[in-house]
Amino acid sequence: IASRLAGFGTTIFTEMSALAERTGAINLGQGFPDEDGPAAVLEAAQAAMRDGRNQYAPLPGVPALRAAIAEHQQRFYGIELDPASQVQVTMGATEAIAAAILGLCEPGDDVLAFDPYYDSYPAATAMAGARFVPIPLDPPDFTFDDIVVGPKARVILINSPHNPTGRVFSREELQRIADVVIEHDLIAITDEVYEHLVFDGLEHIPLSTLPGMAERTLSISSLGKTFSVTGWKVGWATGPAELVAAVRAAKQFLTFAGATPFQHAGAAALRLDDDWYRAFALELQAKRDHLCDAFSHFTVARPQGTYFANVDVGRDATEFARELPYEAGVVAIPTSVFSATPERLAPYLRFAFCKRLPVIDEAARRLQSLE
Ligand code: PMP
Ligand code: GLN
Repeated sequence: IASRLAGFGTTIFTEMSALAERTGAINLGQGFPDEDGPAAVLEAAQAAMRDGRNQYAPLPGVPALRAAIAEHQQRFYGIELDPASQVQVTMGATEAIAAAILGLCEPGDDVLAFDPYYDSYPAATAMAGARFVPIPLDPPDFTFDDIVVGPKARVILINSPHNPTGRVFSREELQRIADVVIEHDLIAITDEVYEHLVFDGLEHIPLSTLPGMAERTLSISSLGKTFSVTGWKVGWATGPAELVAAVRAAKQFLTFAGATPFQHAGAAALRLDDDWYRAFALELQAKRDHLCDAFSHFTVARPQGTYFANVDVGRDATEFARELPYEAGVVAIPTSVFSATPERLAPYLRFAFCKRLPVIDEAARRLQSLE
């Protein structure tokens, strides 16, 4: 393994899902739903295959999906995009993030990101020869202090709704970030994969809709979380044509294209009506409450969005997570694995609640038996 990747090891998701399989424990570690996405969306993928849409997609993505992404951005956020030059389809948000960093950063540039962070961010930064600079989100409320920006800073990555904390950044927080981006002439890359998984009447605000930010923000999302099809790996990057061109420049030599029938199905998915999106968020909110209510004996930060809840287990959560599959038959992930300063997050354990209610109930029953 090349030195730029040597420190990263195996992802925690692989390790913990293997542990769940080995022990037969309920897997609330890796975040993936245990139910399929909407039937009409699954049928659209099968129809695309039957209709012979099985060869390479064009590099920017199939036109129907690019049009649907532009419509979605207009419908939910009032953002206007040219589907030809301002939308790039990728193999999931993960490829969009990697291609964006590879396409925009010089070796030695700084990439800033909130810590804890999704684990692909530092790895993609390392692949580009850039330097990863964490900005701490501090427990118990996971808010941030002043953002320190060095002379080599090029990109700031913003993930809201935020994995693993479940935070949804407020307009005030986003404005503080926007002020820093503008003052230091940075590029903002937003990871909005949980954009529709927001609870309690809160609103997801894309950073690009703040004054002066549309021309500085590359926005990334994907089908996986919104439509419960994490295995399809269809994502996209949208924004100013020159930022999208940088993603395209890298993407063409990473994968060129991908998943043609799923791209067609993505167009059908994004066009589901507003009621569908609302009902999905409400269903997930009920699952959140089910899980959070089960932790009467621990402190749990009820998340504002995503499908993750962080529980303060009152001791070292890494040790606790190792014992949990054996003692309670449940797998969860220590939040500190998503941090460059793990001691800060030592007692937190991340539980995924994107599971059927009976599964959550059973996990809750097992967790309560620990008391
Ligand atoms: N960003 C965040 C914050 C995530 O949690 C995930 C989901 N694993 C991704 C990106 C990856 O998305 P995709 O599966 O579309 O590559
Ligand atoms: N995003 C999911 C999580 O945080 C899973 C990602 C993955 O398996 N790479 O659990």
